[in-house]
Amino acid sequence: MQITPPGVSPIGRSLLDRSLQELSEYVQATGAPAYRARQIHEWIYQKYARSFEEMTNLPRAMRAALAAQATVTPLEPVTRLVSQAGDTQKALFRLPDGERVEAVLMLYDTRRTLCISSQAGCAMGCSFCATALDGLRRNLTAGEIVAQVLFFARYLRDADETPVMRVKRPTTVTNIVLMGMGEPMHNYENVWTAIRRLTAADGFGLGARHITLSTVGLIPMIDRMADEGIQVNLAVSLHASNNALRSKLVPPNRRYPVDELLAAVRRYIAKTNRRVTFEYALIQGINDSPALARDLAIKLQGILCHVNLIPLNPIPDSSFQPASARDTQRFVEILQAGGISATVRMRRGIEINAGCGQLRNAVAA
Ligand code: SF4
Repeated sequence: MQITPPGVSPIGRSLLDRSLQELSEYVQATGAPAYRARQIHEWIYQKYARSFEEMTNLPRAMRAALAAQATVTPLEPVTRLVSQAGDTQKALFRLPDGERVEAVLMLYDTRRTLCISSQAGCAMGCSFCATALDGLRRNLTAGEIVAQVLFFARYLRDADETPVMRVKRPTTVTNIVLMGMGEPMHNYENVWTAIRRLTAADGFGLGARHITLSTVGLIPMIDRMADEGIQVNLAVSLHASNNALRSKLVPPNRRYPVDELLAAVRRYIAKTNRRVTFEYALIQGINDSPALARDLAIKLQGILCHVNLIPLNPIPDSSFQPASARDTQRFVEILQAGGISATVRMRRGIEINAGCGQLRNAVAA
């Protein structure tokens, strides 16, 4: 059997970059019946098959032909690190064109949360972020985004076979956050194609409310997301409440200043009736003062929101350091006293470079 789609690039070899319809056309072009596509789809998205060889209800010749010309996943794991506490695992993957991206699995009591990447590198230039150092390399395809989830879904299911972490039930991915490398709103089409596959009942089947998309605040895309009609959570990386400071930390603020961003968030909430999370990385001596906490509490009045305060993940050779425990506590107390729902999120896996972009930079190409 011959399966040779025209113009197949190394990236295009992955079947994850085909919708069910495209997979069906691909399979039928070989003379196989359309129902074979649905079988392959089920093996990939619901049985997390590693290879075509596992797809035992396909004819042997078809499995061999597929294996010769396509791949089940575009990801090749390069490095995998587990935190000392055994609750965080970070993977660095190589893509077919040599680009590298990271994803992190975090175990909580009842949640198995994945932080995945949407781009190789990032164009946003946040001054405290390791991913920003090399700029944007390229967008990830929808298949490359989904592949990170399938990799860890497979790992969790088979954790007994490869017990590098102490995984108890649940052994499924329960939550996904798009907070790894890249700005998801800057790769909007592919990210939403991936989200649709991850939430489709005949795809990965995760509830949309268990997915969070994090943005530095690209306003037109926040407005667009409000119209998607899928109940994915929105998180906005704020990090400062005034334009002078925020533009230094998060350069897109020059184009989308704080008050306009907060107005977009209000529009989003009015349309979706969903609570928005603001992420605030606390940086020692930069954005962690009581005055800035009070200013933030005022700015967020009346917005249906929660503030996640995260002591910064330190980057080697950077002057930015995490806020002290005392200043972090004081900051959260001021927000709470101002009527703002706020908590401090514990950092995970500092010793394994779990902050986004750090492992990629630490491991030579
Ligand atoms: S913090 Fe996020 S948006 Fe900013 S440069 Fe890093 S990856 Fe990009």
